[in-house]
Amino acid sequence: MIDHLQDTITLNNGVKMPGFGLGVYKVENGDAVENAVGAAIRHGYRSIDTAAFYDNETGVGKAINECGVPREDLFITSKVWNDDQGYEQTLQAFEASLKKLDLEYLDLYLIHWPVKGLYKETWKAMEKLYKDGKVRAIGVSNFHVHHLQDLLSDCEVKPVINQVEYHPHLTQMELHEFCRKENIQLEAWSPLKKGRIFDVPTIVEIAEKYAKSPAQVILRWDLQNHVVTIPKSVTEHRIIENADVFDFSLTEEEMEKINRLNKNERTGSNPDSFDE
Ligand code: NDP
Repeated sequence: MIDHLQDTITLNNGVKMPGFGLGVYKVENGDAVENAVGAAIRHGYRSIDTAAFYDNETGVGKAINECGVPREDLFITSKVWNDDQGYEQTLQAFEASLKKLDLEYLDLYLIHWPVKGLYKETWKAMEKLYKDGKVRAIGVSNFHVHHLQDLLSDCEVKPVINQVEYHPHLTQMELHEFCRKENIQLEAWSPLKKGRIFDVPTIVEIAEKYAKSPAQVILRWDLQNHVVTIPKSVTEHRIIENADVFDFSLTEEEMEKINRLNKNERTGSNPDSFDE
């Protein structure tokens, strides 16, 4: 169990990853992302989740390089975008991300979405990057069970992570169980359902009981469910608030109550139809 903001889980290749991090989707490059990443690291975050698609890797890199925390104490994730999939393209996209981030290596590189007909070739490039020591761990994002089965059927290196939309309205039970069995860590994107889930009575009730915010209850639920979480905020007091989830715990009954809020409701695309 993650008991502290800097506690780590061990991925299936032995690499340790913080269980809690900052997401920076839709945060503008420049001051906005530099301030958010800078504030997060100042307040103890050690994991940052970006992507080539977010167009803010330059700012993320600047904040990382200026934060004063040694590089090896940070955990930096980026992702290969759909238009860059394929073997050679992925190798090039990785180099472009590294250059923008101004880093010598990444901790985790993910396939952003399972582009039909291409994601296995993309994975071959990810395996090469991993074997060449340019990235400490490789994984996927937005993979359904059938995508994972397809990849696992002939990959050389197993993905360490599957980063998917996950919140109390989309609990991904079947996928989570599959990942657990395969020792692939589940990671939640849009853990706060983009801020659209704070008025659910069950969550408000539990939040009142512990004098915590609905956001804190949800993030605590992620951790107790052994799901790595990366809430996004550009607001310093929320960056602090979101990470202040280590002084209470939800009972089994409360965990179950939140699990039961599932509606299989997505804010983002379904991985089976995102590119139609
Ligand atoms: P989140 O579910 O993290 O919600 C972010 C929103 O909630 C923002 O509007 C933020 O506002 C608000 N918020 C954050 N904390 C609080 C709080 N304590 N109280 C009230 N409001 C709050 O959404 P994201 O979609 O950004 O998901 C998180 C991360 O996951 C992304 O940033 C990205 O790194 C990753 N992601 C990955 C995807 C993928 O395909 N792999 C897809 C989507 C996201 P404000 O910033 O104004 O404070």
